[in-house]
Amino acid sequence: MTALVNLYDLAPADLHRALSEVVSPAFRVRQVAEWLQRGAGSFDAMTNLPKEIRVALAERFTVAQPEIVAVTEPAADGSRKYLFRLADGQRIEAVFMIIGDRVSICLSSQAGCAVGCTFCVTGFFGAGRNLTPAEMLGQFHVIQREQQVPMEQMNVVFMGMGEPLLNFDNLVLTLEALYRNVAPRRVTVSTSGIIPGIEALAQLERRPNLAISVNAPDRKRREEIMPITSKYPLEQLMAALRKFPLEKGRDITIEYVLLAGYNDAPHDAVALARLIRGLHAKVNAIPFNEDANLPQWMKRPSDREIDRFVDTLVRNGVRVTVRRSKGRDIAAACGQLRGKEIAKSRASRLAGGSSTSARPRHTASEPASEAGSRR
Ligand code: SAH
Ligand code: SF4
Repeated sequence: MTALVNLYDLAPADLHRALSEVVSPAFRVRQVAEWLQRGAGSFDAMTNLPKEIRVALAERFTVAQPEIVAVTEPAADGSRKYLFRLADGQRIEAVFMIIGDRVSICLSSQAGCAVGCTFCVTGFFGAGRNLTPAEMLGQFHVIQREQQVPMEQMNVVFMGMGEPLLNFDNLVLTLEALYRNVAPRRVTVSTSGIIPGIEALAQLERRPNLAISVNAPDRKRREEIMPITSKYPLEQLMAALRKFPLEKGRDITIEYVLLAGYNDAPHDAVALARLIRGLHAKVNAIPFNEDANLPQWMKRPSDREIDRFVDTLVRNGVRVTVRRSKGRDIAAACGQLRGKEIAKSRASRLAGGSSTSARPRHTASEPASEAGSRR
């Protein structure tokens, strides 16, 4: 038996064609499409359809969504992290976050990540397959249903597991489906800097916001913690950002993970301000989330050091927000809940440490003595 087609994987024209073969008259096709927009998780949930149509649909198609296997207790601000199981047993996660009167859902785009940033748990566990549109949309719909959040309050960020721009075609299908409920300006795609993907995103008629994980103020250090930099050099990345078309009032978000004694000195803030000069950009400083799987030298800076970095950026004319405690108590940096589960089951394979635990060489701009004295 061939696998059933998941209706959430289909582009609008294909969906219409597929449904029209099974469902009539036309208004019934529209009803199914409306249920899909609302995120129905089964044909039986489509209560205004006659039973025969639901049965006929179920013979040809599925509307399966990721299954929740664990959810963390709400953090102080109500944020929660969801662990999902996919049809083939893969595990992914998504985070429900509350920011003032808005909520944001952080989605995974791949079941792992091949980019291999050394500070990232998802990267530590390595490559995984691309998620389908049904799997990405499913995270959104399941959490929206669980949390009962009105669609108009929703924001979506692709900042969970995986590199969304290495799953480009599925990402675009997912975005188009999301836009029926969430306006493009309330959707953000975060990337490690896949230049061809950024250029392809720039061609889209309806673009999401763009966030770039910059994480270091110069090419050398970026290459140390984000090896992808050797393929897509920082200078070329910045050039691609300068060309990226921005709607009025929009900014590019520059994400910057703060690692104590490594990239959090005031002179690093000055260098970062210089790097992004001229861009319509705001910086999102993210204090490093520590994890046992990551190199032990990587530490979260103290609040004082974080403040000093942020103040220096501000003094250099940069707008900046700090993702301070959100998720600290729910381990919200990408990959961490799954990381813990996998760490248990793979404990033997990983015994004896790993090559990622060595601290990269110090760079000329960051002498060892200075880094040492700050820790
Ligand atoms: N692959 C995409 C999106 C997922 S990562 C990207 O790299 O942009 C989302 C964000 O989490 C990135 O900005 C990344 O730098 C950050 N991140 C990863 N590991 C982290 C950690 N241990 N502590 C804090 N932030 C982390
Ligand atoms: Fe992949 Fe992003 Fe993690 Fe880097 S930070 S390994 S690109 S998920």
